[in-house]
Amino acid sequence: MVSRDMVSRDIGRFSTTRPAQHRIDGFGARVVLLPAHCVLGKHVLAVTGYTATLTTDQVLRVSCSVCALSGVDSRWFLDASDEAARAEFSATAYPSPATASPR
Ligand SMILES: [Zn+2]
Repeated sequence: MVSRDMVSRDIGRFSTTRPAQHRIDGFGARVVLLPAHCVLGKHVLAVTGYTATLTTDQVLRVSCSVCALSGVDSRWFLDASDEAARAEFSATAYPSPATASPR
């Protein structure tokens, strides 16, 4: 599900990159949490489709297939520099930036 992407220079440390969240599963393995919805909150990624790539500078980029088709930039940029054994979706780990109040 998460693959290496050697073409990462166009991304860099995007201003909206946020730390990836993790949990420890029942076997003690560290699991990185992926957002269940796209940034706009319109689509459930596991249903509508998504692409997850890990760039060489450890930014996990999750893009919504539906938004990408319609030309909308609805990508998550998560700092995934901490190791994880696997990844799973979380409906609550990442409140959508579109609805979050500004700091
Ligand atoms: Zn979407």
